[in-house]
Amino acid sequence: MKKISKQEAEKQIKEFFSNIKNRSPKEVKKIKKIAMSYNFPLKSLRKLFCKKCYVVFNRDNFKIRIKNNKKVITCLDCNYLSRWKL
Ligand SMILES: [Zn+2]
Repeated sequence: MKKISKQEAEKQIKEFFSNIKNRSPKEVKKIKKIAMSYNFPLKSLRKLFCKKCYVVFNRDNFKIRIKNNKKVITCLDCNYLSRWKL
């Protein structure tokens, strides 16, 4: 990975998420790595893709349920459950 400035990393990450619908899991994995190495907090952006297989959630590949005040997102690609506090 080539060295980039923190500002440059932030720009790349923002650009990436502004157009996330067309991204492949490989690209998501890469940008997450960049974000982590620059301590860039993804916060709610992390909800846009699967934590396990990095597929970007679109209308057809995930299910949402509300359980015990938590939002449970099931990835239909790998069946991984992500839980988010409401
Ligand atoms: Zn998944």
